[in-house]
Amino acid sequence: MDQRKGRRLVLFPLPLQGHISPMLQLANILHSQGFTITIIHTSFNSPNPSSHPHLTFHFIQENLSASEASTDDLVAFVSLLNTKCLVPFRDCLAKLLADVEEEPIACLISDAMLPFTQAVADSLKLPRIVLRTGGASSFVVFAAFPLLKERGYFPIQDSKGQEPVVELPPLKIKDLPVINTRDPETLYEIVNGMVDGAKVSSGIIWNTFEDLEESALATLRQQFSIPIFPIGPFHICIPASPSSLLTQDQSCIAWLDKQAPKSVIYVSFGSIAAVSEAEFLEIAWGLANCKLPFLWVVRPGLTRGSDCLEPLPSGFMEMVDGRGHLVKWAPQQEVLAHPAVGAFWTHNGWNSTLESICEGIPMICMPCFTDQKVNARYVSDVWKVGLQLENGLKREEIEKTIRRVMVEKQGEEIRSRIFRLKEKANHSWKQGRSSFESINSLVTHILSLETFTFHTQ
Ligand code: UDP
Repeated sequence: MDQRKGRRLVLFPLPLQGHISPMLQLANILHSQGFTITIIHTSFNSPNPSSHPHLTFHFIQENLSASEASTDDLVAFVSLLNTKCLVPFRDCLAKLLADVEEEPIACLISDAMLPFTQAVADSLKLPRIVLRTGGASSFVVFAAFPLLKERGYFPIQDSKGQEPVVELPPLKIKDLPVINTRDPETLYEIVNGMVDGAKVSSGIIWNTFEDLEESALATLRQQFSIPIFPIGPFHICIPASPSSLLTQDQSCIAWLDKQAPKSVIYVSFGSIAAVSEAEFLEIAWGLANCKLPFLWVVRPGLTRGSDCLEPLPSGFMEMVDGRGHLVKWAPQQEVLAHPAVGAFWTHNGWNSTLESICEGIPMICMPCFTDQKVNARYVSDVWKVGLQLENGLKREEIEKTIRRVMVEKQGEEIRSRIFRLKEKANHSWKQGRSSFESINSLVTHILSLETFTFHTQ
């Protein structure tokens, strides 16, 4: 092996919507910095290479069966990916490294939730940088899992949900980032694997910005002895590139065009979260009873055990009569940027949270699992740019919360706070500001990494 510097990067995303989008955004940011980008991707949930002609794609055959490719138990799914991708990923990366016709590879950038890639990179003498697609504040909580476990917080007891996590203010026990799974021990393994894998990597990239998560980033800088690069929000620094796995229904934009400014509640719970049929009905009645216009994403699979619109109460569409518009999947960033949108009822996935902040749209928070719970607590109690549905999904509570955000004084205060945060987000990418400087440091760091050309003979 001999040492050569390269400007080619290999990126490997976790194949879920909320992870693929930021990885492709990062690919575009790094491409604009003069790097050549190769993406290794699973065959499951594969993006369309023709939408990204400036990137090179290699697809691996991880051979997930139909039942294994289900995200019903996310913990089992991620665990399986970390096992099944190992051999095809290593073979693919080794082949890329051995190709002497191509520019040398400077490093691998892989999703933090694919920690198996650290051992692969080590065995091929290639540095690995991690992309964490979630926020820094929730990562601080994940990094504290061993301590929290030792202190008896897990498994979470519902009766203690309202009690504070004294080690991590302002979190309550119910905000701890867990998820229902058949095998809770595997959840702790995945979280610890993600944190430990990040600790021994050559650096962590965050889709966040200093002004938003200064304190969490400072904590991580103290706890981790590797460089940390908060270079977000990714989507404001590069033109949008199509990365949606589902077809976005553009009809809602024409519908929004007909609505009054800031009058519409946009409702979407992301690509994975699901609700029970009873909860779905409470959401529907809450929206109907609040008497305000709404745009609601009813994704196939949103209601557990149902395919799409069947569980709507009979006569619902007639009752909301033009005031409600339903789509299976929306062009979310375009929707949030539309002047008619006044609030976002969200599950607080990190991408949705950031997208709402970047457009200055107040949030109604309904976190479902993992980091969404931490994000929601920060939205409501730290940044104070949204309200949580704290007392379960009940139609009266929903109606009251929507009205507080949309028409009451509290909503106005929230709106002015999130507007200030929006300005900070947009500033972070200006010359001399934090994310701009951080990308410069990242580029310098990548070019300084020691890398070796891999010879097969
Ligand atoms: N999204 C979209 N259309 C929709 C709902 C969501 O394009 O109807 C996008 C949204 O803009 C975001 C991503 O899907 O970028 C969801 O990521 P997030 O982290 O918010 O949630 P997840 O789907 O990972 O739970």
